[in-house]
Amino acid sequence: MSKYGIVMDVTKCNGCYNCFLACRDEYCGNDYPPYSLSQPMTGHFWMRLVEKERGQYPKVKAAYTAVPCMHCENPACVKLSTGGAVYQRTDGIVLIDPVKASGQKNILNTCPYRVIFWNEAKQIPQKCTMCAHLLDKGWQEPRCVEACPTGALLFGDLDDPNSEIAKIIAEGKTESLQPEYGLKEKVRYIGLPKRFVAGSVVFKDTDACAEGVKVTLVGEGEKQTVQTNNYGDFEFEGLAADKSYTVKVEAPGYKSQKFEVKTSIDIYLGDIFIKAK
Ligand code: SF4
Ligand code: SF4
Repeated sequence: MSKYGIVMDVTKCNGCYNCFLACRDEYCGNDYPPYSLSQPMTGHFWMRLVEKERGQYPKVKAAYTAVPCMHCENPACVKLSTGGAVYQRTDGIVLIDPVKASGQKNILNTCPYRVIFWNEAKQIPQKCTMCAHLLDKGWQEPRCVEACPTGALLFGDLDDPNSEIAKIIAEGKTESLQPEYGLKEKVRYIGLPKRFVAGSVVFKDTDACAEGVKVTLVGEGEKQTVQTNNYGDFEFEGLAADKSYTVKVEAPGYKSQKFEVKTSIDIYLGDIFIKAK
């Protein structure tokens, strides 16, 4: 039996909103009983994009994280709702029955991800259906995934060891958006924004960008080494928050420099001028 899931690679997302718009196009004004009734024109975000700005000028990055219903293997919404109003299919898709859930606004509070929305006109709770009505007709992927121009969204069968999505998950590259909820989410992520430490190295004697300089980050049981690029820039990505590290900058013929940093925020060390010995 298939078990459907989505992997979202945050590093590939450019924030174009095509996924969000494809969802709107599919559901606004369109009823698909018994899967779902139409989504209102405003106020619902079945495929929400969370934008996060990171760093400080001039080292600023933006990350976009697409957040639909996670179609959890262990869904809080199913456990906490009654009368079969929210149910999980054998393929893992979690659906809200628009008839049985009628009038049950309390269902919005069952999901810690807050991805269930209230349709005031129809008096029903609604959310992403993973386009179950299309998959049942033979579609290979939901509308959001089909619309993504960068390959940031990947849909597939988690139970098929030969599927691309199963292979990526087996490699241990993905993680849950909020693992502390313990819901065994079937929407998983690559490259969720964490903390970075960056800087730009300059040769003091020539005022030139210091290319090929060795920079080492040590701390919290890890050690990483990178080399500066042709602008003298370096970066350590994907670091845990609120951890302490030492950053060491070394180049032959120059005095090395050390910095103690704490990743309570993303850190840009600015221009680091290294002096000849
Ligand atoms: S993300 Fe929320 S609504 Fe979706 S299956 Fe999990 S608990 Fe239910
Ligand atoms: S369609 Fe793809 S690239 Fe565009 S916002 Fe959605 S996930 Fe990101």
